[in-house]
Amino acid sequence: MAEQFSLKLDTPAYKGTVSINTGLFINGQWLKSVEPEKLECCPDMVYTATGRIITSVEGGCSKDIDIAVDVAEKAYKTSWGLKVPGSTRGQMLLNLANLIEKNADEFAALEALNCGKPFSKAQREIAGCIEEFKYYAGWADKIHGKTIETTENKMAYTRHEPYGVVAAIIPWNVAMTMLSWKLAPALAAGNTIILKPSELTPLSALKFASLVNEAGIPPGVINIVNGTGSAVGEAMAYHPRIRKLAFTGSTLTGRKIQEASAKSNLKAITLELGGKSPNIIFDDANLEQTIKWASLGIFANMGQACCAGSRIFVQEGIYDEFIKGFAATAHHLQQNTGDPFSGKTLHGPQISSVQFDRIMGYINSGKTDGAHVLSGGERDGNEGYFIKPTIFTEVKPSMKIAQEEIFGPVGVVMKFKTEEEVIEMANNTTYGLACGIFTENVSRAIRVAHALDAGTAWINTYFTIETMVPFGGYKQSGTGREQGEYALENYTQVKAVHINIGLKL
Ligand code: NAD
Repeated sequence: MAEQFSLKLDTPAYKGTVSINTGLFINGQWLKSVEPEKLECCPDMVYTATGRIITSVEGGCSKDIDIAVDVAEKAYKTSWGLKVPGSTRGQMLLNLANLIEKNADEFAALEALNCGKPFSKAQREIAGCIEEFKYYAGWADKIHGKTIETTENKMAYTRHEPYGVVAAIIPWNVAMTMLSWKLAPALAAGNTIILKPSELTPLSALKFASLVNEAGIPPGVINIVNGTGSAVGEAMAYHPRIRKLAFTGSTLTGRKIQEASAKSNLKAITLELGGKSPNIIFDDANLEQTIKWASLGIFANMGQACCAGSRIFVQEGIYDEFIKGFAATAHHLQQNTGDPFSGKTLHGPQISSVQFDRIMGYINSGKTDGAHVLSGGERDGNEGYFIKPTIFTEVKPSMKIAQEEIFGPVGVVMKFKTEEEVIEMANNTTYGLACGIFTENVSRAIRVAHALDAGTAWINTYFTIETMVPFGGYKQSGTGREQGEYALENYTQVKAVHINIGLKL
């Protein structure tokens, strides 16, 4: 097991070296797992554009989580939490933001290498991650309770106290975004944290870990333990001394995490899960803009986005023109598919052979069920995990491709007549993460936004995620909200203190 991974890249998009330590980052140190012989704890990394293995990293086990909890508890009691002024925690988050900024291109290169996303898109993701740390740095000294007057003889006040040791489990599709969405508010609120990246994309989190000491964060405050869901994730979900767990990933795993919490210590859980979000296009929409947003909505990040606008409902009057333009955007992306480091690529490979096969399975089911392939519908090239941006038309709501989350570059288009009809069709899903509404009629836009079961409604836009605006799901897309002031509620618990100032018994 190599302890250091280093690779020199000389590509049009990035020239430089990427280097990381491949160990477990616990208590400010790089450690080996206490049970290193467990092979399933040592996932192999694959470069998705070619399908060839690039490196492997240390994977942890449940005993490593025990160690991480011990040090995180100690750090919480001695050098973090309410022992440290909020302004000091804020300064350290700012230090982290500045260090990520200093290494931004190396982070982007690691993400492109590990996940296969085009380098320029990875750069944008890193910029968002820097914003996240800066935003919550500002909150760290502004987390207050309230004074509540009750009667003349007594009063009460609330404290928003950190939980202590919290945990985060994140997916692979936007690894650094997810890391920042979890770490920044948790630390601002005064918690110490153990984070498990996805076993598919641990590289950028390891780079991040190498900056933690330099940022002045005391040992044990941030711990990053790689490993599989069964070896490390489950141990976190069941751990009796982890008080809170924030999870982003599939609905299936979210359910297991809820069960683990119920069977162990009833830890507080926030879940950001899957989606099958509707994107509704009315006859009066600005056609040129709508086509661009709808294309971004389903094809961004190769369709590997929880809030992808994957069910596209188009009103009959604009339908023919819309699908013509929409197909052209898919064709354009296909023309610009390739090496994430080429400098020109807009569309890269899927994350893994497993995801590739899963998506192709959905494409085949759409064909078998009788939907029409308007564009794509097949693999691109012979190497790596590339799939052509795919659009299905003549889709029935009952088809599998219209019901289930595909998590790939596959949009399904359905025609509708009336507002009432489309609201019913759009809400006919177990998910409720996001929705898009395109119309020039402001009353209709707001009416439909309010009628849809979704944690986020985008009007004449899609994917506009803002650090200060909450994000999360309705129905089986999750519970709790990340981003903005709302996220701080995930990481604090409210204590009510009652004071007698003259009440006699
Ligand atoms: P996944 O559920 O397979 O894995 C997510 C994480 O959970 C990984 O770190 C994995 O190792 C871990 N895990 C797996 N089994 C576990 C277990 N039993 N106990 C504890 N941890 C376990 O999901 P994925 O394939 O990595 O990501 C894709 C899914 O994530 C999609 O469904 C997507 O919609 C969702 N997602 C949601 C959001 C959101 O904000 N709502 C954002 C990104 C991705």
